Amino acid sequence: MIRAGDFSLSRRGLFLGAAAAGVAANLLPNPASAKAPQINKQAPYYYRFSMGSIEATVISDGSFAVTPKLFSGVPQPEVERMLTDHFLPSDNVAVEQNILVLNTGEKLIVFDTGLGSAKLFGPGSGRMLVSLKEAGIDPKDVDAIVVSHAHPDHLWGVMADDGKPNFPNAQIYISEADYDFWTDEAKLANKDMKGFIEGARKHLVPNRPRIVFMKDGQEILPGVQALAAPGHTIGHMMFMLTSGNKAFAVLADTTVHPVLMFETPRLEFGFDSDPKQAVATRVRVLDMLAEQRIPFIAYHFPWPGIGYAAKRGDGFVYHPKPLQMVL
Ligand SMILES: [Zn+2]
Repeated sequence: MIRAGDFSLSRRGLFLGAAAAGVAANLLPNPASAKAPQINKQAPYYYRFSMGSIEATVISDGSFAVTPKLFSGVPQPEVERMLTDHFLPSDNVAVEQNILVLNTGEKLIVFDTGLGSAKLFGPGSGRMLVSLKEAGIDPKDVDAIVVSHAHPDHLWGVMADDGKPNFPNAQIYISEADYDFWTDEAKLANKDMKGFIEGARKHLVPNRPRIVFMKDGQEILPGVQALAAPGHTIGHMMFMLTSGNKAFAVLADTTVHPVLMFETPRLEFGFDSDPKQAVATRVRVLDMLAEQRIPFIAYHFPWPGIGYAAKRGDGFVYHPKPLQMVL
C-alpha cells in the first residue's frame, strides 16, 4: 500500500534518495554517453481542431515578452503579485501570437499575420510562414486575410521584405477606421507613432485595390461575422464564427492576458489607443462569452490560446480548452 507519507521528502528521505541515486548511477549508463543525440528542436508550431464542418488550424508567428509596466490602473506590486500567484515571472509578460486559419471547404481564411521580419519585440517572432508550411498550408491558396487591427504584430506579415505580398491571391479585410487612422501621413510627424504609421502604410497602401472594408455586424465571409470591438485601436474588430449550431469567437486583442486582464478586466494596457473604451469593450465581450459559454481564441494567450471565460466576482477566470488530439 502506498501512503501519502511515502512521497514526503524529509531530510532522511532526501539522504536515502541521494544514496539510492548513487547506486543507480553505478548501474545505469552515464547520460553523457546516451546513444541517441538530444534533438534540441521543438514540436511544429501549429494545432488543428474541428469546428462543425470547418477545419481550423492555429499557427504561430512565435512569441515575445513585454514589460509588466504596460499594464496599469492598479499599483505595479499588485500586477506582480497576480503574476507570481499564477507561477508566472513577475518581470516580463510572455505574449504568444496565435494566428487562426480556417478552411471552410470553400474558403481559406487567415486571421492576422504576425510581425513579419520586424524584431520590434525581440527575436522570437516572424515564423508565420514557417508555421504555415509546417501545417501543410500554401500561402498561395489563401483567399482572405482578415486583419483585426493595424498594429505591427497583426499586420506586418502581409508583405514580404521585397515588397511582394506573402498571400498573393488573398483579399484583405480591415476596418475603414483603422485603415484611415494608421495610414494617415499627418501622423508621421509624431515621433511616437512614426514607426507604426510607416509600417501600416507599407503593408496597406500598395494593397488598396484588394482591400475590403468590413463593417460592424457584417458577415464578411461565409460563417464569419465582424464585430466592432473598439478601444485597443479605434477600428479594432473581433469575429464571431458559426458552423451549424456552434459558435466560436476570435477575440484578437480584446484581452491580451489570461490573468491580468481577466481577474482585473478594468486594467489598462499601454498599447490601447483609448484604454477606457478598451476596458468597456473587454467587459462587455467577456460578459457575453461567459453568459453564453462561447469558446474563443485570444491572439496573445498561452499557446494555442483557446478557452472559455467564466465570471468570478468583478472579474473573470480563463479556462483553457483541452486540446483535441483526434480530428
Ligand atoms: Zn497584438
